Amino acid sequence: MIDFTLSENDKKLLDYVRTESLVARKYAREYDENEEGFPPDALPEADQYPGVWSLMGGRGAEDTGASAIGMMVTMAETWGDYSIRMRKGRGVGLGNAALSAAGTDEQKEKFGGLLLSMAITEPGCGSDPSLVQTTAVLDEETDEWVINGEKIFVTTGCRCDGVVLWATLDKSAGRAGIKSFLVEKETPGFIVAHKEKKLGIRADDTAAYVFQDCRIPRGNLLGGKEEIPKQGSGGFRGVMKTFNMTRPMTAAFGLGMSQAALDFTREQLEEAGVDLSYGAGTHGLSAAAAKFQELEALQEAAVLTVLRAAWLSDQGQPNNLEASISKAKGGSAVRTITQGCIELLGPMAISREHLLEKWFRDVRITDIYEGTGQIQHLIIARTILDYGRAELN
Ligand SMILES: Cc1cc2nc3c(=O)[nH]c(=O)nc-3n(C[C@H](O)[C@H](O)[C@H](O)COP(=O)(O)OP(=O)(O)OC[C@H]3O[C@@H](n4cnc5c(N)ncnc54)[C@H](O)[C@@H]3O)c2cc1C
Repeated sequence: MIDFTLSENDKKLLDYVRTESLVARKYAREYDENEEGFPPDALPEADQYPGVWSLMGGRGAEDTGASAIGMMVTMAETWGDYSIRMRKGRGVGLGNAALSAAGTDEQKEKFGGLLLSMAITEPGCGSDPSLVQTTAVLDEETDEWVINGEKIFVTTGCRCDGVVLWATLDKSAGRAGIKSFLVEKETPGFIVAHKEKKLGIRADDTAAYVFQDCRIPRGNLLGGKEEIPKQGSGGFRGVMKTFNMTRPMTAAFGLGMSQAALDFTREQLEEAGVDLSYGAGTHGLSAAAAKFQELEALQEAAVLTVLRAAWLSDQGQPNNLEASISKAKGGSAVRTITQGCIELLGPMAISREHLLEKWFRDVRITDIYEGTGQIQHLIIARTILDYGRAELN
């Protein structure tokens, strides 16, 4: 039976993470205004904390924290501020999740200590990753892959040490020809073209890349399998499995911030004399209290979908459907919640005196990257109805 009751140790861990993440909150406005990813030492007070992962018991750099308690930790972190991602520095890029899910032992050993971003999106390829145009051609003489192409919107793309890059070995093979490659920064031909200016999560660096005859060792093909599987044999589905771990986590990022918005709103409403206590019954509630309780219920429901997806992963069970449900539910819930908090608080909510307007901007990405909300709905519908891409797209 699923049980998300926290042990005493889990409670201590979460308290600790929240304390640590509040350090980042102090710097949140500065990071946002400057659109800068600060190095970890920009948080001097954080040095007194030894780091969350050490408390979680021997987790390695490649561990993405895709467990139910890992998701709670993620929420507790972004509850402080999304920019805590900058502080952790190592092992938290989306590329690390891909390495963990599909890398060989040798690759995990070699690249596990690096911060790896994930580059799939291209100017002509977003929601449908099978349209990847970046090419990887094997040079048999030198035993190297030669990469050419362009990637856009790469999260943590400037400060990462390397990238897990999607490229096609054979465009005529369609989805089956797409493989992932590990490319380290500073490799000749790997150019960071520019950094995006964004609405939200401005402390996080989002980059555009160009690859011009970029040569990488043959052994850098993630997972090592060079053969192109037959169309329809499920090879591409295997590549997409990474998202079963990262989509719940993406939802968790957003839900940490919407929780922060709810906590702030509760504080302000109570200060203004609004009674938010439960038990008064529908007719005993003020309009503000009723609205607030609806938002809290939505938060709780969305959090449960994330925990369920992570719990299934913990149990080694398939969670493709649940991962998409958590992403779709989380992505829309965080928008409704932060928007609702703004409605409840009025002008103070959009003042830059407070962080609510920033959380409202920061959560917007939840429904965009890692597959938009519409795409998650497509996946959910296809899975439930047992339809293929051709039947429902
Ligand atoms: C800040 C930020 C960070 C990002 N980080 C990364 C990253 O690290 N790595 C990476 O590879 N990418 C990243 N992305 C890219 C992101 O994953 C894509 O923007 C997203 O997948 C959508 O692709 P697109 O922008 O090409 O939009 P499109 O695919 O052109 O879609 C446009 C709109 O049409 C809708 N749509 C498309 N197809 C369908 C359909 N079949 N049915 C219904 N609606 C549909 C979409 O939902 C969307 O609303 C990032 C984007 C942003 C903004």
